[in-house]
Amino acid sequence: MLLFGDWWQLRPVKSTALFDQSSKAHSGSAYEGLQLLWGRTRDGLQRLWELTQPMRCDDPWYGAFLGECRNGALSAENYFFIHGVPTETVGSMIPGEAAPRCGNAACAALQNGRWREMFAGGAKWPAMQSLECVACQEERRARCRVVWSEQDPRFLQQPFDAAPYIHPHNVPKYYALQLRALEFAKQRHLSVHWVRGARQALAPRRTGYQRGGLEQEAPALARLPRPADRGHDKYG
Ligand SMILES: [Zn+2]
Repeated sequence: MLLFGDWWQLRPVKSTALFDQSSKAHSGSAYEGLQLLWGRTRDGLQRLWELTQPMRCDDPWYGAFLGECRNGALSAENYFFIHGVPTETVGSMIPGEAAPRCGNAACAALQNGRWREMFAGGAKWPAMQSLECVACQEERRARCRVVWSEQDPRFLQQPFDAAPYIHPHNVPKYYALQLRALEFAKQRHLSVHWVRGARQALAPRRTGYQRGGLEQEAPALARLPRPADRGHDKYG
């Protein structure tokens, strides 16, 4: 018998996790279950192989991105790539590697200082990004998985072409919650008070660029509607 599992799990509620030590079992049956995995008897598993090479994804950048998400440690750079906003490295750069995959010295020079100089001199992102090679630009486009416009041509491709309903954020959920609140109040003859939420950054953003605010560093990001602007109740 072969068992496959991923230990990177939330603990079960008020129960014993399979990755617990037998001494921490809360019941006899939990202890027996843990013994099947960790016991040294002939009834327990005989061998453990740890699989360390991710095989889910052929794309080295997307694999690195998923790994960061899995570890709860998404880097700012990869967050910017997935949103399609300005980044400090060129489009074919893989986190942890020494040079961009395109192999162009000019692209390496961009991320190693030239872009910083241009930014300090007041250059705008489109002009900076246009200096990337074709391979970097293509890869940058592929990394952007966040839609910015209802006219995005990807909506006409599979599998989105057959989607019955595509909506931004959690709009239907928040709308349903508001309807429920109204119904709750109606049935109990209560008045409804709507509170509009507002979100404010409490800590300065960590960024490699010293000059300029969010608008300058990531104009597209700064245009993102804030939750309060969308009027839903998540932060209300
Ligand atoms: Zn390049």
